[in-house]
Amino acid sequence: MLEKILEHNRKFVQGRKNAGEDKPISGHAQKDAMVFTCMDTRLVELLEPAMGFGRGDIKILKNAGNIIRGNCSDVIRSIAVGTILMGLKEVYVVGHSDCGMRKLKADDIKAKMVERGISEDAIEAIDIEEWFGLLKDESENVRDAVLKLRESPYIPKDVKIFGLLMDPNTGGIEPVI
Ligand SMILES: [Zn+2]
Repeated sequence: MLEKILEHNRKFVQGRKNAGEDKPISGHAQKDAMVFTCMDTRLVELLEPAMGFGRGDIKILKNAGNIIRGNCSDVIRSIAVGTILMGLKEVYVVGHSDCGMRKLKADDIKAKMVERGISEDAIEAIDIEEWFGLLKDESENVRDAVLKLRESPYIPKDVKIFGLLMDPNTGGIEPVI
């Protein structure tokens, strides 16, 4: 696959150059907003146009299940960078229905870890449900992430934080909180 990527990339770069699309743009989020969402493949090239955002408009963070697992989370660090250091004013937590992180079971994960050669010690050292961040409900998870951000001492209080749920097929969004 890497060979294909590199070959595609050479043509891509040349095409952009020929079209005059390779001029530098600002690294600042032009819409002063951040989005925190799931790594689900169905959201690729769906979420941004569905929300009316294009290249250069927003900062976007992703992880498995758009989960914030604690106050030292790297998600909070990145949102602190965006809001404190870059002055971004709005944060959108965008979960989606049919999330894979809701369908997983701790026993199945454990079996897969063993199968893939993860050591017994490493498996025993964690609470699988907590460590992987398994969800019970996608809307509840969005609400939880929003509340953690609103309550975090590292996120400025004037930053507006919203929670949305997206349909990964239609791209439709509903406010959650
Ligand atoms: Zn997901």
